[in-house]
Amino acid sequence: MEKVIKLSLIGISLGIVGLGLQSCNQNSGKKEEKVSVDSVQHKKDSLVVVQDSITKVDSLRKDSITKMEENTSYIGVKDTTVLLTDSISPRYIYLTFDDGPLNGSQYLDSIATAKGIKINAFLIGEHDKMSKKLHGYTERYKNNTLVDCYNHSYWHAHNKYSTFYSNPQTAFEDFELAEKSMELEHKIVRLPGRNIWYVGNRKKVDLKSGASTAELLHQNGYKIMGWDCEWKINGVTGKPDLTVNQLYTQMKNLLRKGTSYTKNNVVLLTHDNMYQTKKGQKLLSDLIDSLKQHPNYRFEFMRNYPK
Ligand SMILES: [Zn+2]
Repeated sequence: MEKVIKLSLIGISLGIVGLGLQSCNQNSGKKEEKVSVDSVQHKKDSLVVVQDSITKVDSLRKDSITKMEENTSYIGVKDTTVLLTDSISPRYIYLTFDDGPLNGSQYLDSIATAKGIKINAFLIGEHDKMSKKLHGYTERYKNNTLVDCYNHSYWHAHNKYSTFYSNPQTAFEDFELAEKSMELEHKIVRLPGRNIWYVGNRKKVDLKSGASTAELLHQNGYKIMGWDCEWKINGVTGKPDLTVNQLYTQMKNLLRKGTSYTKNNVVLLTHDNMYQTKKGQKLLSDLIDSLKQHPNYRFEFMRNYPK
């Protein structure tokens, strides 16, 4: 970059020197006049060269920043430049945990508190009624201002999704039952076994058989939330299907490329029972730390998801 600037300065100097020589010969007739016009042109050319150089410098700088953004994986302090260029607009992360209360929920509650981030729990009525211990986890969630509780149905379709959705009315009533039994305050649902979105006037359906139920819920004032990416961790071994870095990169790319369901918003689906082991908890903790490196990333509640 410096070389380009130096060259253009030499260009300007030559232009000025050229003008100076001509001014010494101002009384020498037409020939000199012509030279004078040429030298004005020369000066103009020099300025063009300077402008070009500045443009080149600008584009060089832009290119190198883009390259840095593309190539860098976040390893501590080294990424300051990238983080600065990345901090232009806020981007929202929604960590969503399905199927609780389950063994694992108690640690999620603690991680949210320890990290000071908002998380979202999509609960199942049946699990809440299964034991005092599990109901206690629901209570812990509800008493934590960093955890929002939402509706993931009462029976989870007994894991027979097509049968469940073949009758939208009974499916709808199942969500109503969950809402009442767990005293859920938000009309926000996630359909069991279906990645269906229906928020505001926009909808996206993965499998048709859940569409009529989603329609009915939407008509009755519910928001239906899908997800952009998923993380699976073995509840017993703590082994994940994606490493922290793979998932982190996936989330970052969804945000940078604007390919999530709603631009600048990314929803991660994962399940409470995947965090029973210390290994699983450490993975989640590491993911949160990676995401927290971005000053413009905000952890949000699904109730604040854009319409
Ligand atoms: Zn589920």
